[in-house]
Amino acid sequence: YAAKADGGRQRRYSADLDDRTDEEARLGAELRTALDRGEFHLVYQPIVELPHGNVVAVESLVRWWHPERGYVRPDVFIPVAERTGLIVELGEWILRTACLQFADWWRRGVAPYRFGVNVSARQLAEPGFVDMVAAILAETGVHPARLIVEVTETAVFGGGAAVRAVHELNGLGIEIALDDFGTGHSSLGLLQTLPVSILKVDKSFIENVTMAGRHAVIATSLIQVANGLGLVAVAEGVETPEQAAELYRLGYRRAQGYHFGRPAMALPARTESHAA
Ligand code: C2E
Ligand code: MG
Ligand code: MG
Ligand code: MG
Repeated sequence: YAAKADGGRQRRYSADLDDRTDEEARLGAELRTALDRGEFHLVYQPIVELPHGNVVAVESLVRWWHPERGYVRPDVFIPVAERTGLIVELGEWILRTACLQFADWWRRGVAPYRFGVNVSARQLAEPGFVDMVAAILAETGVHPARLIVEVTETAVFGGGAAVRAVHELNGLGIEIALDDFGTGHSSLGLLQTLPVSILKVDKSFIENVTMAGRHAVIATSLIQVANGLGLVAVAEGVETPEQAAELYRLGYRRAQGYHFGRPAMALPARTESHAA
């Protein structure tokens, strides 16, 4: 009887797994079509200087508007695009689109000082990735020092091709940001060996920064590490004026979050001109 019950559970479990695999395969195929049909667009979120809130950079974030599903979140489709390999082509479209947008802002004299583009592990490890980045910068006329490439700790943890790519990007004059810092395969050793100049402190540590507790302690330690190493720390996910004030008190000078501006199609207000 027990064996039979287990067998039932086993079947249910594999049925769930099949459903998940089917759904993933469907999503993978739809992503391919979506790229061909132009269903992706980019939005830009301001990164500001504390305490006054001047915009010093923007981060580009990809959006997928599916005709039936509506918006699909990037944390849902980016991992699928990574597994199918489509991220290589999608990532190239994202980089070119962000560079074209920046070049347009620049021509109109309204460009923020810098712009960030997220790059996934698979892209970094792809042969020819750095050449592709250099070619897009040349083609769009964007100076490499304007571009920030955001990578996660996990993407560069294993070393190898991804780490080599990070060094080569930096060699071109591109700044490297470690994204979601503190949530991945965190190793302070990465900060010793990688040419990183920006630490993006994950929003999970920022959320409770106004309350005494573990997150506040970590947020406090990370700003000290960043300042001590001469890195710029960006507090992610700042949603309230209280958080912004506390972060400033702790020593944070850069922040990003709904309190300052949501990701949007238009250029955020209060952008410092590139002449500044
Ligand atoms: P991320 O790079 O850490 O981006 C920050 C995420 O936090 C964005 O979510 C942004 O909308 C969200 N966010 C910003 N301010 C706040 C806030 O105050 N509160 C809260 N709760 N959230 C805030 P989004 O756009 O959904 O992107 C999620 C993740 O998907 C990104 O995390 C990044 O890892 C990935 N992603 C997004 N766009 C791209 C892309 O173009 N290429 C790649 N490879 N990955 C991307
Ligand atoms: Mg990012
Ligand atoms: Mg982040
Ligand atoms: Mg994040």
